[in-house]
Amino acid sequence: MPKPASQKVATARPFSYRNRTLHCDGVSLASIAEQHSTPAYVYSERQISERFQLFDQAFATRPHTICYAVKANSSLVILRLLGEQGAGFDIVSGGELERVRKAHKPALQRIVFSGVGKQVWEIDAALKANILLFNVESEAELYLLAARAETLGIRARFALRVNPDVFADTHPYISTGLREHKFGIDITLARAIYKRATKFKSLDPAGVSVHIGSQIRSVRPFAAATQRVLDLIADLRKDGHDIRYLDAGGGLGIDYHDSINDPKFNPQQQVQNYAAALNKVLKGIDAHLLLEPGRFIVAQAGALLTRVLVVKQNGAKTFVITDAGMNDLIRPALYQAHHEIIPVKQTAGKQVTTSVVDVVGPVCESGDFFARDRALPNVKPGDLVVLLDTGAYGMSLTSNYNTRPRPPELLITGDKAQLIRRRETLKDLFGPELLPTF
Ligand SMILES: *Cc1c(COP(=O)(O)O)cnc(C)c1O
Repeated sequence: MPKPASQKVATARPFSYRNRTLHCDGVSLASIAEQHSTPAYVYSERQISERFQLFDQAFATRPHTICYAVKANSSLVILRLLGEQGAGFDIVSGGELERVRKAHKPALQRIVFSGVGKQVWEIDAALKANILLFNVESEAELYLLAARAETLGIRARFALRVNPDVFADTHPYISTGLREHKFGIDITLARAIYKRATKFKSLDPAGVSVHIGSQIRSVRPFAAATQRVLDLIADLRKDGHDIRYLDAGGGLGIDYHDSINDPKFNPQQQVQNYAAALNKVLKGIDAHLLLEPGRFIVAQAGALLTRVLVVKQNGAKTFVITDAGMNDLIRPALYQAHHEIIPVKQTAGKQVTTSVVDVVGPVCESGDFFARDRALPNVKPGDLVVLLDTGAYGMSLTSNYNTRPRPPELLITGDKAQLIRRRETLKDLFGPELLPTF
């Protein structure tokens, strides 16, 4: 039976208060803290699937593959969940390739491999896995790929990741589409490189790819970049290259300032606006579209649950110190990122008293903060709070700084919570270390 072009996908926020206690779908976060302690990452399975379906349906009118960007959240269970629904994957390392193999083997053939510094072992593993496409980011990498493919007797499908010189208004650390960035190849040089690549029988020039950055809220730069790629594809086809794939990258942003009951919250509309902008420039173009969303699929499905350890007054400032620190969530320290912070228990009565506080972690760095000068409902030691929208670039950017074990991850399915990664132990941390006698 043919799939209807546009099914309705529910898009409610997974986090809401029931009986004055914050829940993720059907599970109370107070009960999670009781069973698994804090800090802990909590994800809504429903929301992750819904976001993937939104993307998939928005592009239903043309041949496409949604290649989820593994680095946003590389949990094996999340990769399996998406792989089983037909997702491809955008990977940036040999380690991420192995994650996909472990999570859902059939999806290996739906992998695109990005990254500016691919190593021989990573290229070899990807060639043997018969991935869909290498997104090549320099001419030197192209020749290395040709040599490895020839040695292994495998033809390598590649796209040059071009740099369209399009400005996208986002944080400078996650903007990638300008000539001054390390990513991609200057689009004006690409045609000549494709020409030189025809010397190599081991190379199959199968596509063109672009990725202009992350957390981009306007759809205009995506359309502009795609238009430039289309012009290049027209030239390449004139030159006789059989270009079948257009990889438009990822980067669609979310509103980190949304509160959990914001009436403007409408991810379906956001995806549809994005799809409309791309489809407008792609009109009449015969190519298989690849997309690489990461953040948009997982960010709002996740929250970091943490407990207040201390409330401390230093001069005029009040510090709320939580048991989560920058090693558990580095986005505020790294990108000055904003995360909404809300209490797990709602206070009874209408009168909610708030104070202006800094929310900080226990790590020995002044950059270890989650919020500065933020008006929050009053909290006291022992209270649970939640940092919203931390499903993307949260757990995947954790570290063991200050010899702190990584937090566990829980996947919520309806009213069931499943541990999908246990809390690290100190034994895990000491595992690789050696104490040689000199
Ligand atoms: C990080 C990355 C993505 C995903 O970006 P999001 O902003 O999470 O959608 C996609 N493609 C490439 C090449 C990336 O490096």
